[in-house]
Amino acid sequence: MRGFFIGRFQPYHFGHHEVIRRILEEVDELIIGIGSAQESHTLENPFTAGERILMISKAIEELNTGKRIYIVPLEDIYRNSLWVSHVRSMVPPFEVVYSNNPLVIRLFREAGFKVISTKLYRRFEYQGTEIRKRMLNGEDWESLVPRAVAEVIKEIDGIGRIREIANRDA
Ligand code: NAP
Repeated sequence: MRGFFIGRFQPYHFGHHEVIRRILEEVDELIIGIGSAQESHTLENPFTAGERILMISKAIEELNTGKRIYIVPLEDIYRNSLWVSHVRSMVPPFEVVYSNNPLVIRLFREAGFKVISTKLYRRFEYQGTEIRKRMLNGEDWESLVPRAVAEVIKEIDGIGRIREIANRDA
């Protein structure tokens, strides 16, 4: 069975990592969709689709799962009724969808897919918004993401980018 899981991953953190680790126990192969792929260089969406591919693929390598994983960037199309078709046209075929986003769940169920609701692991602790805020304010963010993700963010000077976008000293 091939599963599909989508998120914006701005950035990829331990909450996503644990959800994916658990999904991988249930599926033979997993497609990870990188949502809002066209977005980058904003405070809400600082990282490009390519940078998010790096973060996720390197972090997942450390899970040492023997399973095949496809990471596919997906641009928004601003027409919800066509979105599932758009996704299906861009990724390998899949049978089951994992999500906790009410809109994503609704759209895939209407299209006849089996959808499994996945709550993020330790949500109070791991949140994209909080991590981006900490990056901006010079607080500890590295403990909230896999080591490989922190390395990618440093490699691309992600903190400098966020602080410049916010017009603060890097
Ligand atoms: P999102 O809008 O990026 O995330 C919304 C919130 O849900 C974030 O706070 C996120 O936390 C949180 N979250 C993500 N996964 C979760 C989970 N398993 N359990 C609990 N909370 C979770 O939405 P998304 O679901 O991560 O990604 C959906 C993507 O599909 C988006 O990029 C969206 O634009 C796209 N989409 C596009 C269309 C269209 O183009 N018409 C339609 C539907 C969806 P973190 O910030 O910590 O990740």
